[in-house]
Amino acid sequence: MEDRPIQVNLSSTGKEKPKSDELQFGRMFTDHMFVMDYSEPAGWHDARIVPYQPIAMDPSAMVFHYGQSVFEGLKAYLTPEGDAQLFRPEKNLRRINHSNDRLCIPRIDEEFALKALKQLIALDKDWIPDAEGTSLYIRPFIISTEAFLGVAPSRHYKFIVILSPVGAYYKEGINPVKIAVENKYVRAAVGGTGEAKTGGNYASSLKAQELVADSGFAQVLWLDAVERKYIEEVGSMNVFFKINGEIVTPILNGSILEGITRKSVIELLKHWEIPVVERKISMEELYQAYCDGLVEEAFGSGTAAVISPIGQLTWDDKDMVFNNMETGPIAKKLYDTLTGIQYGKIEDPFGWIEKIKSRVTL
Ligand SMILES: *Cc1c(COP(=O)(O)O)cnc(C)c1O
Repeated sequence: MEDRPIQVNLSSTGKEKPKSDELQFGRMFTDHMFVMDYSEPAGWHDARIVPYQPIAMDPSAMVFHYGQSVFEGLKAYLTPEGDAQLFRPEKNLRRINHSNDRLCIPRIDEEFALKALKQLIALDKDWIPDAEGTSLYIRPFIISTEAFLGVAPSRHYKFIVILSPVGAYYKEGINPVKIAVENKYVRAAVGGTGEAKTGGNYASSLKAQELVADSGFAQVLWLDAVERKYIEEVGSMNVFFKINGEIVTPILNGSILEGITRKSVIELLKHWEIPVVERKISMEELYQAYCDGLVEEAFGSGTAAVISPIGQLTWDDKDMVFNNMETGPIAKKLYDTLTGIQYGKIEDPFGWIEKIKSRVTL
């Protein structure tokens, strides 16, 4: 399949591009999208780039009823030289196959998908905004399209990649947020789908988020589903705490999503010889350490914000304020280094950057 060329059907009318101060997250899309179909026995076939457009589906398409779908999120960045580049994209494609395995969706060819993604971005390269902190968000996803109401893995799928120019996550500089610990609802349980990037995890997270939003909390901190004791994630980010000189992040336990930013943070800390450990950590332990004055920093990690400092964590009636509600030095250094590498402003000694040639063979 890798050898088969991708059919390209160019958009005849380019849409007007947003001005940099009009950019939001995920509301505008570029001129083109990538689509590939799956059916049995053909497998994945008909890879094509077409004008961005709605898709027609049967109302009985399985994705509408049972949610068999997966997605990914990554970004293309413009360097000061005007080149487009990606950050560890092969990890996203490996992860979509990991999610596929969990959701009984047929695997995609990762190398071919990366080639397709790069070809699509090269074609819509002019859509990558160049203002500070802006980027082109890339959303690959797979939906089950078989017209059938039976509860079984679909026999038809679509793999689609869409692109959206997005504004800077932090408009006035990196900014600590307030987080509420969620004691009633859970995001995922071990044995469930927490490790997979699937829409259902997000559907079930909305309620908790809605309940705390009115009280000024940006996100909730999720606890383990069995004991409501151990820290898992913050909203849709992985989470880190600096306790007594050591950075602690919850160990991947089967219900935590393995973030690529998380992995990069751990690798950077090790590179800097800053102690970092992946282990179980309970709210009780964190609170005790806080009371003992040992919690120096807290922050989340994810593609959208990169690093999101946590200024306050509220656990029932207990408020914990970290680093005076200010961004801590580790969070700042991680943010500056990761974004520096992503935007090609500092050297990448790790081989994390994948450049996009402006002319990818069509
Ligand atoms: C996508 C996601 C993350 C962050 O992953 P990155 O690869 O770092 O963007 C963390 N938690 C959840 C639940 C996610 O869906």
